[in-house]
Amino acid sequence: MSSTTGLSNEFPVPERMKAWVLGGPEELHLVDKPVPAPGPAEVLVRVDAVAICATDLEILKHGVPALVDGELPFNKNFTIGHEYMGTVVRLGPAVDEFQPGDRVTVEVHAGCGRCERCREGMYTSCLNYGNRAKGHRANGFTTDGGFAEYAVNNINTLVHVPDDMSDAEATLVVTAGTSMYGLDVLGGLVAGDGVVVTGPGPIGLLGVAVAKALGADPVILTGTRESRLELGRRLGADHTVNAREEDAVAAVRRLTGGRGVRFVIECSGAPNALNEAAQMVNRGGRICLAAFPEERVPVDVAHIVRNNIYVYGIRGEGKSATHRAMALMKQKRFDAKLVHTHTFPLDDLPTGLRYARERIDNAIKVVVTAQR
Ligand SMILES: [Zn+2]
Ligand SMILES: [Zn+2]
Repeated sequence: MSSTTGLSNEFPVPERMKAWVLGGPEELHLVDKPVPAPGPAEVLVRVDAVAICATDLEILKHGVPALVDGELPFNKNFTIGHEYMGTVVRLGPAVDEFQPGDRVTVEVHAGCGRCERCREGMYTSCLNYGNRAKGHRANGFTTDGGFAEYAVNNINTLVHVPDDMSDAEATLVVTAGTSMYGLDVLGGLVAGDGVVVTGPGPIGLLGVAVAKALGADPVILTGTRESRLELGRRLGADHTVNAREEDAVAAVRRLTGGRGVRFVIECSGAPNALNEAAQMVNRGGRICLAAFPEERVPVDVAHIVRNNIYVYGIRGEGKSATHRAMALMKQKRFDAKLVHTHTFPLDDLPTGLRYARERIDNAIKVVVTAQR
């Protein structure tokens, strides 16, 4: 093995690989394409497991959102999938931060590293988003992603996976990282403060887990499906509210002795969610929007202004939040595996996507794994 060239006999890399690529809407094709080569500050990752995200389902429906260099939203050679983990098998020039054989999980975004936002650690909002020549990558969005045998990653997007963490669990780190980033923008100091999480999807459920691990008290989860709320309690929610049975705002007021909470993480995307969140927080409270409704919605701005309520939007998993989420998971502060419900082989990705979309058999996180 030579660390200068990054070649490794232990991990022979073929010239071509299997990869799923976009066709038209709701169309994916399994093709044979060249294995990409890592450039400076990059490594080649052999993909071992990939989680399916709701955003993948959106891309399949509408195409890739950020158009790059005039590409069509359904670029026929483009590979999606952004929540993956694997093994480093080849190093780009001058890379010594990782070695072949290292198990890693990935963040989605490698910012350009030269714009104001990247310099602040807000690389998911890079001002050169989609500009590959300037070094930006968002695998699965603007550059090839993980529904393939191999993917290239910037070293800044890699997080070491401990030996005792399974491949499937490691794919969940970026989801927990997104929840962590949401808590970051709210100020991070949540110990002893009340946090409401609205919407028990994967980000909401792991939002409950991360908030509890950081000492939030109480943590309240609202949703409409009892099975998801039950999972929220197992991940650390002190209280859950079934919004089908009880008005969620009234319930939060009741559970907090009328005071409301300091923080809300909105993960439901429900049309009235921001207005409800503004009624759940107390004066000076903070709301992080991690989901959004497709239509435009009326907002009670006067209530927000009069009560000095702060509203933040987040995109993805900035400020190395994924590293901090991994630190909590490595210390077993919560069991992210609870949200992983189904596994399919990579060749069977369409079945996995169907399970995720139709929530067959109460699917939450569906993971596809490499066959070798
Ligand atoms: Zn995702
Ligand atoms: Zn940038």
